[in-house]
Amino acid sequence: MNPFKYTKIVATLGPASESPDQIRRLIAAGTDCFRLNFSHGTQESHAATLQLVRQISHELGRYVAVLADVQGPKLRIGKLPEAGVCLEDGQSFVLTQRAIDGSASAVHSPYEYLTQDLQKGARVLLADGSIELLVERIADQDVHCKVLHGGQLFSKKGMNLPGTTVSVETLTAKDRQDLEFIARNEFDLVAVSFVRRAADIKQAREILGARPIPVLAKLERPEAIDNLNAILEVADGVMVARGDLGVEMDFARVPGIQKQILQRATVRGKWAIVATEMLRSMVSQSRPTRAEVTDVANAVIDGADAVMLSEETAVGQHPALVVTAMERITGEVDRLDQSGKLHFEADIISFAAGAAGAAVSAAERLEARAIVALAGSNVTALLLSKWRPRIPILALSSGQATLRRLNVLRGVFPVHIRENSNMEEQIRLADDVLLEQSWGRAGDTVVVVGAIPLGQGKETNSIRFHRIRPRENW
Ligand code: PEP
Repeated sequence: MNPFKYTKIVATLGPASESPDQIRRLIAAGTDCFRLNFSHGTQESHAATLQLVRQISHELGRYVAVLADVQGPKLRIGKLPEAGVCLEDGQSFVLTQRAIDGSASAVHSPYEYLTQDLQKGARVLLADGSIELLVERIADQDVHCKVLHGGQLFSKKGMNLPGTTVSVETLTAKDRQDLEFIARNEFDLVAVSFVRRAADIKQAREILGARPIPVLAKLERPEAIDNLNAILEVADGVMVARGDLGVEMDFARVPGIQKQILQRATVRGKWAIVATEMLRSMVSQSRPTRAEVTDVANAVIDGADAVMLSEETAVGQHPALVVTAMERITGEVDRLDQSGKLHFEADIISFAAGAAGAAVSAAERLEARAIVALAGSNVTALLLSKWRPRIPILALSSGQATLRRLNVLRGVFPVHIRENSNMEEQIRLADDVLLEQSWGRAGDTVVVVGAIPLGQGKETNSIRFHRIRPRENW
């Protein structure tokens, strides 16, 4: 029997992986979704990469989604000498709104609300939190700081203001332009960075207009954790963005918050991705650390649909090898029983939620080999996935974009079906796939969910039991 792949892998494309050859290798190694990071590149370069991914995944016969990750209001310092500067513990350092050439005593910050938002006693973290400053005095356009933890600092590094309420809008002018571009192009999923409240997601959706692109909230600000329930009401999914989260908040809280987010995303029936530093050492090494292996496995056990690689594949030394390592870890943990006992939230009590729960429980009792969601029951496929059944969920659709999106859900295998095909054709095709892949044998039971009559836009309303039949017996 071919092993079935439950947990999905998101790989970030970057200079190390954007070539046709690397993209091909990353897909072959097990990538289910590529992330295009709009913090880098241009709209033209992203459009070209999107086309390349489409072309190669088509050649390989794989449904690979493309996730557009908009930059958000990431604060950065300005320019410093090429070799960087060394900040010593205890020295003075000035962050200034004046457009100066940076040095070891001062650097420009283009953040327009810098002197307005910061207060004496606030902390400023630079370069992913590796350098810590304490604000001592604010005078005119300058913020005078004391270096609490020094280190080497380079141009354009990130700046975080933990504990400070930042005035900047979540969606910057660049994000708005990028969202318009994303809406005009065939991206499959969108991630909004530094989300703080539900209104941020609503604004992004307004800009995307009528295009039904699922919007994921990147959770990396403390306010987002406070507003988690409201955000989950409007977002289609979440990304646990542990990089900035662990700088904006005490890093010791990240594991607990990850579990909380994934648990909430599960009961709300949302896409859930865990991101950042999952196999960080593999940027340069050929094997992961044991702690990284355990981290990836725990993210899966916590309830992630997909685990994400960032710099490992974007700028690392061996992108495909990292995906192979990720696939080995998730493949192993997928063998554990992670089936859940779910109580979806009251406001998603629907026919789809009822059908998903009933289908999973019937499949267990009948020792079924698969659950099949017929075309038109894609929401049910998503909710089925949240139950984490120990058998494949075959999700049928005639829509290519739908199939790519469903492929980012745990345990879902997308199957293309001709438009307007009838129920018999759809079940027969599912049988073919199960037999071809050796996920089931003739006579095995499958549980089928569907919205009957098919093709009329109805809610999922039926569960049907079926025994796999080889094509010649239909
Ligand atoms: C993160 O901070 O964890 C993250 C995914 O964001 P980005 O890589 O876009 O900075």
